[in-house]
Amino acid sequence: MLGNTMLRWSAPALLRRFLPRIASGEYVFAQGFSEPGAGSNLASLALRAERADNRWVLNGQKLWSSGAHRANWMFVLARTNRDAPAHRGISMLLVPLDQPGIEIRPIRNLTGETDFNEVFFDDATTEFDLVVGEVNQGEQSR
Ligand SMILES: Cc1cc2nc3c(=O)[nH]c(=O)nc-3n(C[C@H](O)[C@H](O)[C@H](O)COP(=O)(O)OP(=O)(O)OC[C@H]3O[C@@H](n4cnc5c(N)ncnc54)[C@H](O)[C@@H]3O)c2cc1C
Repeated sequence: MLGNTMLRWSAPALLRRFLPRIASGEYVFAQGFSEPGAGSNLASLALRAERADNRWVLNGQKLWSSGAHRANWMFVLARTNRDAPAHRGISMLLVPLDQPGIEIRPIRNLTGETDFNEVFFDDATTEFDLVVGEVNQGEQSR
């Protein structure tokens, strides 16, 4: 899912860095769209990412993140412009999960299995260039 999206929206340098590692299994991505107050309605998205020098600093929470406990990266939708209307100002960022600012809490279902997770971002960071598409354009599709 991410590979195809990056082929459409990402620059060659990002493709060269990520696609071979996705294909080899070195990078395993979870999907970070849903949040406690934001399911179908993306305009409710609350995870925020703020620029600090050459990094993004992320604070907030994702929910129902399938396989995040087995992943080492997550592609997230984050609010990068809080002054924009609710359905705008969103970016798609690539975030490494193995860092102190990330906590992954598995959700145990009725069968005792853990497939989904809550993922908490507490001053988690990622490189400023790890944006799929343009900054503040993550909600657009063609
Ligand atoms: C098997 C599975 C795996 C998942 N894995 C992931 C994952 O890896 N990463 C991730 O980010 N999310 C994941 N999700 C979460 C899933 O994408 C959410 O369930 C989805 O975002 C819907 O959000 P919600 O549950 O809050 O429902 P809501 O958005 O609250 O919707 C509830 C109901 O209201 C309806 N509804 C909502 N808005 C409207 C409207 N405007 N008009 C009419 N009806 C409406 C919906 O169709 C639905 O029937 C997964 C879900 C499932 C079932």
